[in-house]
Amino acid sequence: MRIAVIGAGWAGLAAAVELARSGVEVVLFEAGRVAGGRARELAREGRILDNGLHVLAGAYTETLRMMRAVGIEPERALLRIPLAIVVPGRLRLKTWPLPAPFNLLAGLAFARGLSLASRIAAARFLPRLERSLTAGGERTVGEALAACGQDGEPARLIWEPLCRAALNTPVRLASARVFARVLRDTLGASRAASDLLLPRVSLGELFPAPALRFLGRHGGAFLASTPIRAVARAGCGLCLEGDPRAQVHDAVILATAPQAAARLLAGLSEAAPAIAIVDRFAYHPIATCYLQYPAGVELPAAMIGGGPEGADWYFDRGRLRGEPGLIATVVSADAERMKPAGAAAAARAHQGLARLLGPLPRPSWSFTVVEKRAGFSCTPHLDRPAQASGIPGLWLAGDYTDSPYPATIEAAVRSGVTAARAALGR
Ligand SMILES: Cc1cc2nc3c(=O)[nH]c(=O)nc-3n(C[C@H](O)[C@H](O)[C@H](O)COP(=O)(O)OP(=O)(O)OC[C@H]3O[C@@H](n4cnc5c(N)ncnc54)[C@H](O)[C@@H]3O)c2cc1C
Repeated sequence: MRIAVIGAGWAGLAAAVELARSGVEVVLFEAGRVAGGRARELAREGRILDNGLHVLAGAYTETLRMMRAVGIEPERALLRIPLAIVVPGRLRLKTWPLPAPFNLLAGLAFARGLSLASRIAAARFLPRLERSLTAGGERTVGEALAACGQDGEPARLIWEPLCRAALNTPVRLASARVFARVLRDTLGASRAASDLLLPRVSLGELFPAPALRFLGRHGGAFLASTPIRAVARAGCGLCLEGDPRAQVHDAVILATAPQAAARLLAGLSEAAPAIAIVDRFAYHPIATCYLQYPAGVELPAAMIGGGPEGADWYFDRGRLRGEPGLIATVVSADAERMKPAGAAAAARAHQGLARLLGPLPRPSWSFTVVEKRAGFSCTPHLDRPAQASGIPGLWLAGDYTDSPYPATIEAAVRSGVTAARAALGR
């Protein structure tokens, strides 16, 4: 059996690994020069950076399983820290190593920077968090929080940053149902599930490069810089316009981002419903700015929050990767806060950090990367296409396909594994 996978993001890589494990001949096509898609490493001026800081959670069980399958030890490659929102001098809220909801209840009891009224309101909300968020049917997180007495300080300091980080969608637009599901599987589950996992290696070495090595060892082929232009039927199989070998494949897994998938499917009438769903998607950006300070500059922790007026989060690459003085800042789902771009973005990121830490020397080097379509806008009533495309032998994978999770690495990996198993007839 020969199966083609189009797109070497984490969904396509997970699909290719799952197929190769089963002894299938896999050909993986990638339009770009490197694998990884929206979670990839970037080489800039002699440095290995990432296109964006990625945070995984202990609840990413499928991602962790796939990493192990290709020989990565998550315990070494990821720094595990308890979920916390720490904004120096303003807010300190940390989960405790206790079963839910006591993990956050204890955190609220000892929190600093939250008024007593906010702590009591949040503590009352916690034990019925999932029920409260989903009780009013499909609605936004903002609407649900207001209905549960969580607007004001708890929303601004706790729920808004968590929602923006998890769904890459602001609370005024975000789906309360999806947010409730994410909270249930992290904060509401075991202690380990809510832990944050911060990469200690480049995004390339975290999964894409080991996955390609695994593919090579199992007889698979990886064709970089090979964009596929269309999928077409060929007898009982499928062929790909742009495949230099012009092969007929028994099955195809289309694992590109949604907008590219819609273009590739345009010639297949059965795919019209999936294309119509994807055409309705809106997207949000994520901006990451790297600032190189002298070696002595460091954050009080590997990851800190920025509060409402700074960046959303700051990461200390010195603590994470042994790159002293290199700080990365992240702004999610707010195009207005990313303007103006370029050098102004680095100046803004530096000022935001100086407001938190006190006077800082000017960075000697900076680099900003904006991913305009980091993920789809995770809104109420959002239809997502099924993985069965409607065309025999053709399966869709990617973070945007049907899943209880928002646009995340875990949604992407799960979709890839599911599509591979479907293609194998399991
Ligand atoms: C800056 C940023 C920060 C993020 N932070 C987090 C985070 O902290 N935690 C988290 O879980 N998630 C995060 N995400 C989301 C996460 O990166 C994505 O959900 C995930 O990487 C999507 O993977 P995918 O395989 O579905 O799609 P993609 O990564 O988009 O992969 C699709 C691949 O298909 C290729 N392709 C496209 N067209 C063609 C074609 N015609 N032929 C061949 N190949 C093609 C593309 O080049 C790409 O490599 C972040 C995303 C960004 C951009």
